Amino acid sequence: MKNKKFIYQFKEGKSEGNIQMKDLLGGKGANLAEMANIGVPVPPGFIITTEVCNYFYQHKGKLPEKFEGQFKQAIEKLERITAKKFGDINNPLLLSVRSGAKVSMPGMMDTVLNLGLNDKTVIGLAKKTNNPRFVHDAYRRFIQMFGDVVLGLEKKDFENILGKTKEKLGIKLDVDLKVEDLKNIISKYKELIRKKIGRSFPQDAFKQLEMSRDAVFESWNIPRAITYRKLNNIPDDLGTAVNVQVMVFGNMGKNSATGVGFTRNPANGKKEFYGEFLINAQGEDVVAGIRTPLPITDLRKEMPKVYKQLRKITGRLEKHYRDVQDFEFTIEERKLYMLQTRTGKRTAQAAIRIAVDMVEEKLITKKEALMRIEPQQINQLLHPVINPKAKLEIIATGLPASPGAAVGRVVFTAEKAVLLGEKKKKVVLVRNETCPDDIEGMHMAQGVLTVHGGMTSHAAVVARGMGKCCVAGCEEIKIDEKKKRFSVNDVVIKEGDWVTLNGSNGNVILGKVPTIEPSLTGDFNIFIKWADKIRKLGVRANADIPQDAKIARQFGAEGIGLCRTEHMFFEKERLPFVQQMILADDEVSRRKALVKLLPFQKEDFKGLFREMKGCSVTIRTLDPPLHEFLPKTKKEAKALSKKINIPENKIWAKSQELHEFNPMLGHRGCRLGITYPEITEMQVKAVISAACELLKKEKIKVVPEIMIPLVGHINEFKNQKKVVERIADETMKKYRVKIKYLIGTMIEIPRAVVTADEIAAEADFFSFGTNDLTQMGMGFSRDDAGKFIRTYLERKIFKADPFQTLDKEGIGQLIVLGIQKGRKTKKDLKIGICGEHGGDPESIKFCHQVGMNYVSCSPYRVPIARLAAAQAVIETEFT
Ligand code: ADP
Ligand code: MG
Ligand code: MG
Repeated sequence: MKNKKFIYQFKEGKSEGNIQMKDLLGGKGANLAEMANIGVPVPPGFIITTEVCNYFYQHKGKLPEKFEGQFKQAIEKLERITAKKFGDINNPLLLSVRSGAKVSMPGMMDTVLNLGLNDKTVIGLAKKTNNPRFVHDAYRRFIQMFGDVVLGLEKKDFENILGKTKEKLGIKLDVDLKVEDLKNIISKYKELIRKKIGRSFPQDAFKQLEMSRDAVFESWNIPRAITYRKLNNIPDDLGTAVNVQVMVFGNMGKNSATGVGFTRNPANGKKEFYGEFLINAQGEDVVAGIRTPLPITDLRKEMPKVYKQLRKITGRLEKHYRDVQDFEFTIEERKLYMLQTRTGKRTAQAAIRIAVDMVEEKLITKKEALMRIEPQQINQLLHPVINPKAKLEIIATGLPASPGAAVGRVVFTAEKAVLLGEKKKKVVLVRNETCPDDIEGMHMAQGVLTVHGGMTSHAAVVARGMGKCCVAGCEEIKIDEKKKRFSVNDVVIKEGDWVTLNGSNGNVILGKVPTIEPSLTGDFNIFIKWADKIRKLGVRANADIPQDAKIARQFGAEGIGLCRTEHMFFEKERLPFVQQMILADDEVSRRKALVKLLPFQKEDFKGLFREMKGCSVTIRTLDPPLHEFLPKTKKEAKALSKKINIPENKIWAKSQELHEFNPMLGHRGCRLGITYPEITEMQVKAVISAACELLKKEKIKVVPEIMIPLVGHINEFKNQKKVVERIADETMKKYRVKIKYLIGTMIEIPRAVVTADEIAAEADFFSFGTNDLTQMGMGFSRDDAGKFIRTYLERKIFKADPFQTLDKEGIGQLIVLGIQKGRKTKKDLKIGICGEHGGDPESIKFCHQVGMNYVSCSPYRVPIARLAAAQAVIETEFT
């Protein structure tokens, strides 16, 4: 660390850093440096690197040896540029201290503004600016921020003093406070600090700066920052940079203002200038939601020249970065300064529209557009919307801050939202305004409703990032936190009552409103077709019933990769026959029950095939252990006995007999079909006759792929294959048609992987059942792993839950081996995946890399898989 550069300087037109240096300078710093480089008006400043932050943590709060000198020099440079002096009584330089890690973490770490003010500089500055109100407003803010962020006092203690003073004076807004009032508040603030920490508010500017700098470093590890990183998978060792910047003032009067905005609408993606501002205010006011800001279009009327300049600069920023920018600005006496720019967070809907538009505008390529959307984000597009036919009792309307619909019970605290959310209860979080401490609660809630704040308030920004419905700035409602209720006019809604939010138009609706599933149209179709053109992997769906198959088709599934026939068995009408079959004493009576099941299964398959016209449909023979179909308690046995006319004790005895110590590893999968071939026979007969009938009568062609589960030994497969072939032959003869069908197997037992070359000699296809393969490869079952997997993740024993994201280094290598061996025997062996991982973007990319032919996932994940599969191709191309 000896001859290292710890500090990077920037000023309009020139800087020592640039946008490539986010690791070292953090996102905010690198962007400030970049803006300065391209000549955007930014107040001058310097950036202390993330390396210094990491050093600070590794050395218990100490700074590197040569740091001090560089720090002093940097400040002197700012003094030269501004012709002001830090700490000077007559001409003081004021600074802001801003945190900024590599990844933007909205509201996570607090900023200190107006640093350098003290009892003496206040007097000097008031004289110099001839604006004592502004100076005291700035001092008031500084003490409050410093007290909160640096000294760790409670924000609400300061707010209390401020609120009480305003109340006494009969004033609503901060801007109406006079100099004397502000002085009064300032002395109360100082008193509060003295009382709480037993020391006075530091008057020395350097001391203030050092303390603020260290507080920024320390804020990297406050609980809410840690929570945010955990929720977003951000490594803990990135560290934060510290930005020290010359202050510009939006609170100097009616010719000054501060605001935030986006170059395009972040909620729906429309190409329109979008944002909010406040006259006579400082940065924090806009997002804090205390005063509701004006729409940016009003700035055009108030200050047309500045507005034009702002449009020009932000337009230029968008072109420069080739993406939507989220920016902050301040106007000091009609002079515009840019204070921040970054990639704008947006809803999925907006993201798609922006990507498609930018391709049309030739700003980005199709491939770039495809890489811009996180596959998981598409989930948001699949969220329900309010049924337009529903009768609505709209009780209030706020700002449509983040689209979608949220139905849940009202709660007033984040803690309550977490508590109920963990119990899988649906809640809507209702707050005056949200703050970073509410993040976990927001995460757990279906939607968020706030009384104050605009489209860029904390609640709105965070909700959009989470893809969560949010109605903000709903000033009509009044919250009574003590009584746990809110009211609009004379309607009172208590904690626990149901409400529905419409984040697309801002409506707050009484009760539980029916919602409908969205359909994917317009821009999304254009976008996803680009993905389809590029991807190599096929995308199929796991679907057991026609309804699911239909949804899967709508979402673009190219076939069914897994139909679990047992799901048909559980259906109310058929279950009794299934139970009779299980309870049968001999083959004859077993066959009797199976005969009754046959027509049901045949109709099921016909329904499925109709939806899947022209595609492949993989049907798995019975997989779960039989006891799952029998009563679990004596009481249930009694009820069943009445229904199917078999003695209660016989049912109970059978249920006991079938009990297994480890059903996961018990009598299931092909082991059932081998011991009771008549079950396989019935199922094959149903599949093949369904296909024959459809071809004959409805001219519908499908290719059934009959799949044998849980094969570990080639002889198991051979045994079942023989049954399938015999029945298929018989059935086709009976119908006098020939259909094409395949017989394949699941690869889900490690022994099957190791002997895949032998199995491939007999099987037409492989489908990796990665749920079982993970269970058996890891040696723990998915249902029992819940007890320790959280601990494993917390202690970083596992990076991810192996049931959600394929364990590439372990289970993934089993897949690699299985594919290698299988294709050694049969060069073009068709190979897919049908476990839960088939819908996980990370795992899908792996499936592409190891050369699978297709993935199969739940219908709702099909669009996600289509995009992930395309990204896999693009990523492999470029790396
Ligand atoms: P956050 O990451 O929470 O947005 P920022 O560092 O961007 O924190 O600062 C918070 C607010 O303070 C912003 O509105 C910003 O515009 C304002 N601000 C920061 N530095 C300055 C400065 N030098 N002059 C005026 N306002 C500033
Ligand atoms: Mg900011
Ligand atoms: Mg399985």
